[in-house]
Amino acid sequence: MEASTVYMIYGKDAAAMTRSLLDAYGIEERVKDKERIILKPNLVTPSRAEEGATTHTEIMSALIECLHDLGKTDIAIAEGSWVGASTEEAFRHCGCLEIARRLGVKLIDTKKDSFRTLEYDGMRMEVSEAILSCDYLINLPVLKGHCQTRMTAAMKNLKGCLSDRSKREFHRMGLMKPIAALNMLVRPDLTIVDSLSGDLDFEEGGNPVETDRMMAGDDPVAIDILGASLMGYAADDIPYIPIVLEYSGRNLSLEDIEVRELNRPEAGTARPSGAVGRLAGYTDPSDACSACLASLIHALKRLEEDGDISRLGGRKIAVGQGWRGRTMEIGSGTCCSGAAHGVRGCPPSASDILRMLEDL
Ligand code: SF4
Repeated sequence: MEASTVYMIYGKDAAAMTRSLLDAYGIEERVKDKERIILKPNLVTPSRAEEGATTHTEIMSALIECLHDLGKTDIAIAEGSWVGASTEEAFRHCGCLEIARRLGVKLIDTKKDSFRTLEYDGMRMEVSEAILSCDYLINLPVLKGHCQTRMTAAMKNLKGCLSDRSKREFHRMGLMKPIAALNMLVRPDLTIVDSLSGDLDFEEGGNPVETDRMMAGDDPVAIDILGASLMGYAADDIPYIPIVLEYSGRNLSLEDIEVRELNRPEAGTARPSGAVGRLAGYTDPSDACSACLASLIHALKRLEEDGDISRLGGRKIAVGQGWRGRTMEIGSGTCCSGAAHGVRGCPPSASDILRMLEDL
């Protein structure tokens, strides 16, 4: 048994949230002897962060400004978009070109970098030399759905450190074991998760779930286990998590992760549309915090995937601060403690909500 700490913060001001996470993490002490610092965002395609696929620009800007304040000058943003997409186009479309000009940082397209061939458990892969040679690597993934791995967050984001040839090879090898192997070879020093509006179920975005949350920590596996729970999955549902635990001989579970919340969520103004709006049709929100409604949306998505949504029988699930002190049949979150069928938590995880719904 072991403990890992993940810092969590709620809100809409990504820059201020980033600074608070960095303060809580003690970034000054962590980077004091580090020269060459690389930020590795998720820029899988050239799409705006609001669409649910890519890392918000404000996080990168605030992080670089903080590092400048600490006297750090050798900073680069490094990424390689997925096969078939242009990283340069993603840099331009996602605002990194503007950041580079304004803040004087380098942009590294890892597709065009030189590579070092590494091997783990018989799997060979070409990893960007820039990534391997930096002094301090900061991973900036988006917590979102994924069509093959179900969820992507800290560990899978490192795939952007590979050559396109290795990315293709990963898929030929079944994706899960190679992702675990890559994480045995490359270990970011810090991971800051953009969980502001990650996509419901697809890495390319299109159905963002307004969540207004960010997280930070130095243990990518703990972050992914927690992220899975926030999306309604058990750790074992994301196949590369148990593989990396086995590789590293670790025995880490959700209960071992200490979550330090830096503030409390506030009532949001989400107006979900598309697939998220359809799932929101099963809810009855009243002054619901975005993170609370997002957990419920993810739980409903899992229930729907399991073919169990009919157990709601047309009933809607209450959620939000407007339900405090009232009674209802089904409710989600501590504000709905008057529910005949409910789950506590402020906000509850999607996994806990899913268990409650499965017991209906
Ligand atoms: S339980 Fe209430 S206060 Fe807590 S996150 Fe949910 S809606 Fe917000």
